Amino acid sequence: MIEIINLNKWFGNFHVLKNINMRVDKGEIIVICGPSGSGKSTLIRCINRIEYHQKGKIVVAGTPLTNRMKNISMVRREVGMVFQDFDLFPHLTILENLILAPTWILKLPRKTAMATAMALLERVRISDQAQKMPGQLSGGQQQRAAIARALCMNPKVMLFDEPTSALDPEMVKEVLDVIQDLAQDGMTMICVTHEMGFARQVANRIIFMDEGEIVEENDPDNFFSHPRWDRTQKFLSQIL
Ligand code: ATP
Ligand code: MG
Repeated sequence: MIEIINLNKWFGNFHVLKNINMRVDKGEIIVICGPSGSGKSTLIRCINRIEYHQKGKIVVAGTPLTNRMKNISMVRREVGMVFQDFDLFPHLTILENLILAPTWILKLPRKTAMATAMALLERVRISDQAQKMPGQLSGGQQQRAAIARALCMNPKVMLFDEPTSALDPEMVKEVLDVIQDLAQDGMTMICVTHEMGFARQVANRIIFMDEGEIVEENDPDNFFSHPRWDRTQKFLSQIL
């Protein structure tokens, strides 16, 4: 589904991603963790081309991401993204937020888009909030709306960038439950998170990044019980 080969990226002189190799197969659930500034967001932003890489190869659902590509909107359509700060359009109702891309980009009839949107709001258990403005919802509800909005485009992969770190503690679980539900449904996903309980339960693989490199990659059991490198041990001792 996603293949990354020798990916390198610089911001000016700063080498932010160093020789990243990574493969995500259909249905796999990957958790990425690591200290602040290690390049986690930059890596997943390269996958839907919010950021550009200078060297190496990224292939998403069979399409290589290159500087010359004309079909970037095709790739973005396949890759749903959910950010830390929900990122809903504040002046649109929840339902309007959900149908915007399906009607404008996919050119779906409004009625069809609304039916899909309502079904997805049901799925994330906030169909009763459809007519409200984002500011009237709790953080957890807003984030679930953002997840439903991404799902409206019927993506093949979902990318989550610290989806729960802006939430009050009591709302973390309702959002993680929705993500876990998606995972059990077979959605391919990459999730940057420091929720290690979630990682242990849901991930097939955990990737630890530090200073722009993948330092360690393992299944959850081995990752937590036998971290191979000092840097991983140190990180885990700080967050567990
Ligand atoms: P956090 O856990 O704090 O979210 P992160 O692992 O997601 O951190 P990134 O946001 O990917 O880290 O940033 C990696 C490094 O790249 C940081 O040193 C950051 O300051 C730098 N960086 C990120 N975006 C830019 C940019 N647009 N221009 C220049 N430097 C950037
Ligand atoms: Mg980040």
